[in-house]
Amino acid sequence: MTIRVLAPDVASRIAAGEVVERPASVVKELVENSLDAGASDVSVQVRGGGVDRIRVADDGAGIPPDEVELAFQRFATSKLETASELDSIASLGFRGEALPSIAAVSRVSIVSRTADEDAGTRLELAGGRIVARERLGATQGTAIVVGRLFEDVPARRKFLRSPATENSRIHTVVARYALAYPHVRFSLDTGTSSSFATPGSGNARETFAAVYGLDVARQMLEIVRAPGEDAAAPFASGMISPPELTRANRNHIGFFVNGRWAQNRMLSFALEQAYHGFLMERRFPIAAVNVVMPFEDIDVNVHPAKSEVRFRYDNRVFGALQQAVRETLNAQSPVPTVRSVHGPPSGHAPAGRPRDAAFWPSVPFASAREAADAAMVEPQAPESSTPRAALPVLRVLGQMQSTYIVAEGPDGMYLIDQHAAHERVMFERVRAEAASRTPRTQSLLEPATVHLTEDQAELAASSSREIAALGFVVEPFGETAYLVRAVPALVDSTDPGKVFREVLDAMSDGGGFETWEERAAYSLACHVAIRAGKTLTHEEMSELSRQLERCEQPNTCPHGRPTTIHLRASQLEREFGRR
Ligand code: ADP
Ligand code: MG
Repeated sequence: MTIRVLAPDVASRIAAGEVVERPASVVKELVENSLDAGASDVSVQVRGGGVDRIRVADDGAGIPPDEVELAFQRFATSKLETASELDSIASLGFRGEALPSIAAVSRVSIVSRTADEDAGTRLELAGGRIVARERLGATQGTAIVVGRLFEDVPARRKFLRSPATENSRIHTVVARYALAYPHVRFSLDTGTSSSFATPGSGNARETFAAVYGLDVARQMLEIVRAPGEDAAAPFASGMISPPELTRANRNHIGFFVNGRWAQNRMLSFALEQAYHGFLMERRFPIAAVNVVMPFEDIDVNVHPAKSEVRFRYDNRVFGALQQAVRETLNAQSPVPTVRSVHGPPSGHAPAGRPRDAAFWPSVPFASAREAADAAMVEPQAPESSTPRAALPVLRVLGQMQSTYIVAEGPDGMYLIDQHAAHERVMFERVRAEAASRTPRTQSLLEPATVHLTEDQAELAASSSREIAALGFVVEPFGETAYLVRAVPALVDSTDPGKVFREVLDAMSDGGGFETWEERAAYSLACHVAIRAGKTLTHEEMSELSRQLERCEQPNTCPHGRPTTIHLRASQLEREFGRR
């Protein structure tokens, strides 16, 4: 083949792909344009997960009539003139690519009016070409409607998820911007419960209340900022959740750098480091953090979507963020002086009393041998919140509150949370069987028909391998119905449809797991694990404790809660004044 320059329509399609990956990217670009235009009110309306329709309207500066067409030309921008300005970009946009990219893959109509015009301009584009233009009465600002997104880009369409999933991504985008710009009134209308509207009062807590509800807003901590000596040093501001308010994934952490949504692994790492020792494994905080620093110390021109940023001085930014978060946590919640996962959650510590007291062991769990070692060398606070030490052989003494198993070990007393422990046992068993593709199943005499919600059906289709590995034998049966022919041997098969639906729901919640294999194993484990409140026989308790001893990670349930609390013999002696 000879080398040729791509035809403009091919080139613009390719370029569009980088900027507009999915409906949420359209929303992001349009919201950024509104903020760049100085809007104090940004309203976002979407239908059909954004594929049918996205409308973003603002009360910003507007576009002069003779420039509206230009805005849809590639590399046309009002925000940048010379290459040297690239070194200190203060606006969110600068590449002049968003509008042409969006227009290349959808139908767009725009109405815009500046303050000194008495009428607005309306433009309609199809496939990037202008199909209509008129003057009409309009309020100041810009409203852009995007419809039929990706209609002519089947490859892109195929990768879109259900409207509910796309809506939730859009919600994430608008929520993050709303939290980062509390002075701007934001509203999101998805036609579903994910809609919200912020007051635009400038008050961060009120904004949080609008997005996350009053209860979360009340608990959020404002980052305390020590007045910096060096004006050019980076500093962090914003809101973070206290350790007892967490989520199962990172979706509720938003970073901004000088007001720009930033994706940067180092920032996430700094935040998680600051929470280290405060959070259980696989739990994540809620946070909206803005890092402020001189514009020339950041490079935002890394990717067309502009969400990736690079820093000139990584370590300064890391330090500033980590320190600010750490200080905030230290100042506002009791310090976990003893980092025992077996202590009560920090939120429940009685005020004014450090929660180690004499009672909670400073070394979580140790086997008999390690306990002996520990007696010789006083160990440091454990690095990880999940000690990997094995559980010693235990002798079951009895059950408390139909919830905890009381047992004796070589070095004192152990309390086992029966549900957490059984969940751990089941999780490891299910995971092992699934990994070796040898799940035990029970066939049903008659297949059961299950009707799934759209989300459940989508998950069933996209995770069919993992579901089969659990021991389900299912097949699609019409749009959203499934036939269940067999269920995992572990479950009670009286209502196979219900089991299948519950496992799907637990999988979509995920329990904090990243891989679908683990999410699947967790969802079955949590379904079959014995509940708290169930009276167990002595044999059942002994069996459970034996199974727990054999686990790879006996000390925590699959999502990081302790399965066992250990009270050492030496501590008992101290408590009773025998030593
Ligand atoms: P960029 O934001 O990188 O400049 P865009 O393609 O997103 O590129 O927008 C092109 C131009 O259109 C902007 O530079 C701006 O002048 C104008 N524009 C786009 N959206 C708006 C808006 N909501 N209000 C005012 N002007 C806008
Ligand atoms: Mg832009």
